[in-house]
Amino acid sequence: MFGGPRHSMGPRQMYKATCSDCGKECEVPFQPTDGRPVYCEECFSKHRKPRTSRGGY
Ligand SMILES: [Zn+2]
Repeated sequence: MFGGPRHSMGPRQMYKATCSDCGKECEVPFQPTDGRPVYCEECFSKHRKPRTSRGGY
C-alpha cells in the first residue's frame, strides 16, 4: 500500500516551447535548453529512433 497522499498523479509541469522542426508552439515536460532542439509531440515521435522488433538491450 502506498500511503502517500502527496504523490498524486496530477498534471506534471510543462514548459512552453517552440518546435524546432515545424515551428509550432508546444509544451514539453522538461525545461527547454538554449541551443537544444525541442520537438512537439508529433515531431518528437518522428525523430525518435524507430523501434526495433529485436528484444535486445
Ligand atoms: Zn513539430
